[in-house]
Amino acid sequence: MNNKIILTGDRPTGRLHLGHYVGSLKNRVRLQNEGAFDKMFVMIADAQALTDNFACPKKVQDNLYEVAIDYLSVGIDPEKVTMFIQSEVPELTELTFYYMNLVNVSRLQRNPTVKTEIKQKDFEQSIPAGFLCYPVSQTADITAFKANIVPVGEDQMPMIEQANEIVHTFNRIYGETLVECCAVLANSKLEQRLPGLDGNAKMSKSLGNCIYLSDSPEEVKKKVMSMYTDPGHIKVEDEGKVEGNMVFTYLDVFSNDELIKKYSDYDSLEEMKEHYRKGGLGDVKIKNVLYNILEEMLLPIREKRKYYEEHLDEVKEILKRGTVDARKVAGQTLKEVKEAIGINYFD
Ligand code: ATP
Ligand code: MG
Repeated sequence: MNNKIILTGDRPTGRLHLGHYVGSLKNRVRLQNEGAFDKMFVMIADAQALTDNFACPKKVQDNLYEVAIDYLSVGIDPEKVTMFIQSEVPELTELTFYYMNLVNVSRLQRNPTVKTEIKQKDFEQSIPAGFLCYPVSQTADITAFKANIVPVGEDQMPMIEQANEIVHTFNRIYGETLVECCAVLANSKLEQRLPGLDGNAKMSKSLGNCIYLSDSPEEVKKKVMSMYTDPGHIKVEDEGKVEGNMVFTYLDVFSNDELIKKYSDYDSLEEMKEHYRKGGLGDVKIKNVLYNILEEMLLPIREKRKYYEEHLDEVKEILKRGTVDARKVAGQTLKEVKEAIGINYFD
């Protein structure tokens, strides 16, 4: 029987936001609490973050603890999950080097997520080689732990495909060694890729259109009040559009009838949408409903965060312990990889 091994990670390029929460974190916590797995790893991908932030290592360094604290605050339990730092597991870099031979540059350039990011980051004129190869390093991260389940947002699908291609090529050339993986996506399209506050297709740290899990109530309020709604809905009496209106999009994701009843005068979101379409329901009102619903979700996360911010030594210990554990597993895989290639000279 196949072991069930779960691996995910995030780049410490900023604190985690609502997109991470619905796209991936929620699934991780659910899988963790269901307990139907053999091993679960959560990695802070600082080395990967450096591929496009090499000139500002401080940003990566500063956000490492922020991400670790975000994990703990949403309920990742270090007793059940191995939390570790990517750059502290050099076996991953070594694996990346061997895998780079198994993929060509044009294949890497065809990766649609990498393509979008190259545009976003203005790398068109000169792409850092390390950045172009980050899908290969992600393959190393996944295969080092023999992970077969990878809970991710939709933008990561091309990475999973790329990883499995490398696994096949490796196994074909050197013999059956590496394990194929499978992505686990959130239930709805909107959760798989939560749009930004500005209506952009993706909430993303790099685009600055996020509500962070660690934002204060005041920040959340300010951001919700600035959200993109329907530019044609000027006066309260005007008919309003619900489609493409970010407030309703977020209500679709974060509310249920119970919450709508609790924080508005409506019995359901449908009823509220109907009123907005007809006219007579103002943006400030719908934004207040959303704000209250988000606050109910964020409050306990914020409280846990406060504890860990005051106990940084505890966080450091958790990461240290996790990293020792991760190195053992990755070391074993590297050994098998070198054996398969035949470069285990001193064994
Ligand atoms: P960056 O802009 O630095 O790339 P990011 O916001 O894209 O940051 P990552 O650390 O690259 O965040 O992504 C971590 C995980 O969160 C991935 O599995 C990714 O698919 C998921 N994710 C990120 N943003 C969203 C989103 N808006 N909706 C759903 N999932 C998301
Ligand atoms: Mg990203």
